[in-house]
Amino acid sequence: MSHLSLPASGHRPARAQTLIDSHKRTIQYLRLSLTSACHMRCVYCRPDFHHNTADDLLTPIELENIVRHLVQDHGLRKVRLTGGDPTARGDLENIITRLARIDGIDDLAMTTNGLSLATRARAYADAGLMRVNLSLDSLDSAQFARMTGIDGLKCVLAGIEAAHDANLTPIKLNTVVLRGENEEQIPGLVRYASECDAAIRFIELMPMGPLASQWAERYVPASEVRARLDEIVTSWEPLPRGSDSAENFRAVLDDGRSVTIGFITPMSCNFCSACNRVRITSDGSLYPCLMDRPSGSLLAALRPRFDAELFDTILSEGLARKASEHPAQGFVTMTVIGG
Ligand code: SAM
Repeated sequence: MSHLSLPASGHRPARAQTLIDSHKRTIQYLRLSLTSACHMRCVYCRPDFHHNTADDLLTPIELENIVRHLVQDHGLRKVRLTGGDPTARGDLENIITRLARIDGIDDLAMTTNGLSLATRARAYADAGLMRVNLSLDSLDSAQFARMTGIDGLKCVLAGIEAAHDANLTPIKLNTVVLRGENEEQIPGLVRYASECDAAIRFIELMPMGPLASQWAERYVPASEVRARLDEIVTSWEPLPRGSDSAENFRAVLDDGRSVTIGFITPMSCNFCSACNRVRITSDGSLYPCLMDRPSGSLLAALRPRFDAELFDTILSEGLARKASEHPAQGFVTMTVIGG
């Protein structure tokens, strides 16, 4: 049983009712996938031509209703916009503006491929976005193009600079390491992060999406990434973890610079016991876990108007089904659910 007790019909709870799942984890973080469309075709994430049509997408008002309810009535503190790529939506600034005006959000962040940041970072920040995470798998243009399907490295690097200038900080770079592809990039990416004052996190390949069937051959454990970094890191200071998906270190490099390096280890050492997340996709599906099936659709609670009681019933059922650990294999590609 979830510890979300339902409000009596027609009543708003007098104060926030914390969301607690059936394994006693407190849920305070929503990952909101705004679209499954993305400009990139990353080798490990490429959608099977699954793109939302405009009719499928939750509208800015529906998204605001969801977040306002979760923040005001259930103590949600963090929202991350993801996808696909959130920037594939023409109404992204409207969405950010609506979410940013909700009192009580400590962290309103976005995960993006970075392609639009060079021109749009300032606008996103002005709309109320607090910070960005960017995917960056290689600093080699040809390899970047091979891994993402787009010749966009320069554009992404300009985007990182623009995000910095617009104070969308701290910036976190996300790198998926693939065996036989970008392992050689690991030290260079860390040096780059230290130079541009960003944190970098290495994400273990998960068996979902187009490389799921080759997972065993392409997966590089975080322990191997860390061992490779011992070439350039002279000291590792562990940072407090909390419910962060990454195990973070403040690392001093052999050139005297320091940088935060994180390891996201869903495969070698899962962090499910500290999971504080729930996910909603752009078609209104509720995913209690990144790698599990959706528990249901929230659409009936969103259309034609927001129904808080029904929303809570569907949410409560979802939290009751949130598994103690993620399944061994994902059910959808990351473009649908958002990373
Ligand atoms: N388009 C945005 C981006 O590029 O960051 C946000 C969505 S993307 C699905 C979010 C994160 O998921 C990215 O950092 C990506 O590298 C990661 N990702 C996608 N598929 C993955 C997989 N099979 N294993 C591990 N990470 C994956």
